[in-house]
Amino acid sequence: MQKPQKLINLSRRNAIKYGGGFLGTGLAATVLGSNLVKPEPVAAQNPIIAQNKDITPDQALRKLMEGNKRFVEQKRQTPNQTRERLVEVSESQAPFASILGCADSRVPAEIVFDQGLGDLFVCRIAGNIAIAEEVGSLEFGSMVLGSKVLMVLGHSRCGAVEATIKGGRFPGQIGTLIDDIQVGVERAQQQSGTNKLEMAIQANVIHQVELLNQSVVLGDLIDKNQLKIVGGYYDLETGEVTLLT
Ligand SMILES: [Zn+2]
Repeated sequence: MQKPQKLINLSRRNAIKYGGGFLGTGLAATVLGSNLVKPEPVAAQNPIIAQNKDITPDQALRKLMEGNKRFVEQKRQTPNQTRERLVEVSESQAPFASILGCADSRVPAEIVFDQGLGDLFVCRIAGNIAIAEEVGSLEFGSMVLGSKVLMVLGHSRCGAVEATIKGGRFPGQIGTLIDDIQVGVERAQQQSGTNKLEMAIQANVIHQVELLNQSVVLGDLIDKNQLKIVGGYYDLETGEVTLLT
């Protein structure tokens, strides 16, 4: 099923939608015609927000990968999971990273990156696909909450990608997921290599990164060096995340 122009105008539509809802809850937003003004967090003096304010996208990515290294080496610190942190982030949040990950039960972002409350803005959906609602959420995470790095995280033996390769008819709404994974599967079929499933999983991650890069809102943040979008691959056996882009 073709979904032409899926992302065209999508960003602005969602930004305006959030502008009328989320932003109204304590954040000053101005949406005038085509000029979208980045809202200033009301709680700019809040230590949580101040803490991440000056972090660069590269530093945010490093922090994320260091957390994964601790996880792999079984040296987790389980940061920011105290009662104090819970209270601290109850008023506001400033996650330093966003994850577009698969819904797979074996890839929980906070655990595999060794993070805690208020650290990650996570969207999970089978096949880690950048459909409209996910893109809108991630735009919110970076534009309003200030997340500095956005990682699309695929993983080994992804059932959603495997089902796409096998094809056939799917009950309910499952087929809608398949449509969005198809591009990556087709790209992998053009490549040489024996493990078509792993190749398709990685090609799908790269395709979803490309879709996110089409977002006007995210593109603007990237241009200002306030955001970086990367693709990652999680190995179910080792727990290690490898950067693909
Ligand atoms: Zn999966």
